[in-house]
Amino acid sequence: MIRDGGISGVTILIPPSFSEIEIYKNNKIKLSSGILDKNVSKLAFDNNLGGFEFLSGIPGNIGGAIAMNAGCYGSEIKDIVEEVLILERDGELKSYNNEEMQFSYRKSVIRKDQIIIEATFKGMHENKSYIKGKMDEVISSKKVSQPSKVATGGSTFKNPKEVKAWKLINSSGLSGYKIGGAMISPIHNNFFINTGNASAKDFEKLGEFVIHEVEKHHGIRLEWEIHLIGDSIDEI
Ligand SMILES: Cc1cc2nc3c(=O)[nH]c(=O)nc-3n(C[C@H](O)[C@H](O)[C@H](O)COP(=O)(O)OP(=O)(O)OC[C@H]3O[C@@H](n4cnc5c(N)ncnc54)[C@H](O)[C@@H]3O)c2cc1C
Repeated sequence: MIRDGGISGVTILIPPSFSEIEIYKNNKIKLSSGILDKNVSKLAFDNNLGGFEFLSGIPGNIGGAIAMNAGCYGSEIKDIVEEVLILERDGELKSYNNEEMQFSYRKSVIRKDQIIIEATFKGMHENKSYIKGKMDEVISSKKVSQPSKVATGGSTFKNPKEVKAWKLINSSGLSGYKIGGAMISPIHNNFFINTGNASAKDFEKLGEFVIHEVEKHHGIRLEWEIHLIGDSIDEI
């Protein structure tokens, strides 16, 4: 989420059109970083490649998914990545293997001055009906458990090891709580939604309030999953 004062610096957008694809015989595929996650899962389905089904439920492109080690329902990017090609700040291209990427929960080695260009993934040979079944399961589970067709950034906080973030928020009595235009979704308490005119400040204030209340009720300090970047309006 970009704060209301914007970013004083250069940002680089990797568009979905940056999407070259190479398919190899040994269950491997090489993808440019702009290709959308949902298209990666379709491509894997077309090529009888299992292991990519979870991507059908994640918005964004594959570069962002690698940087964040995105995942859901027990699968994550770290399970399928073999090699990542990165453009370093000094212009050098460097290849990182899975271990060098230092993947952990919603985290990787990627810094903000590095750009993921492409990555090689390895899946396993599966039949199409099995893959389709798993993709449908991901999509329908998300439909019932998360708000849809609303402006949201997805999961706001990382799940602590012992308990889901939404449960902590819910049992702190915060379901539906609102600050300005930002509201805690009553459908999934770890999703904040923009009810129409939320500023980034509303959103950040709501998050800080939740962190405070959850710590007060449960003694657990939630950690932002959403990256907050840029300057607040008071700073410019
Ligand atoms: C409705 C909804 C549901 C979601 N569900 C899930 C879920 O189930 N699981 C999950 O893990 N996430 C989920 N998310 C969060 C988000 O979609 C993922 O983290 C996503 O993979 C991020 O990809 P993006 O392309 O949107 O990246 P961005 O949000 O644009 O960027 C994320 C980070 O990656 C960096 N980055 C992006 N591209 C590159 C690149 N090419 N090179 C270097 N750095 C890069 C950015 O600088 C930033 O730090 C959800 C979000 C929404 C809105």
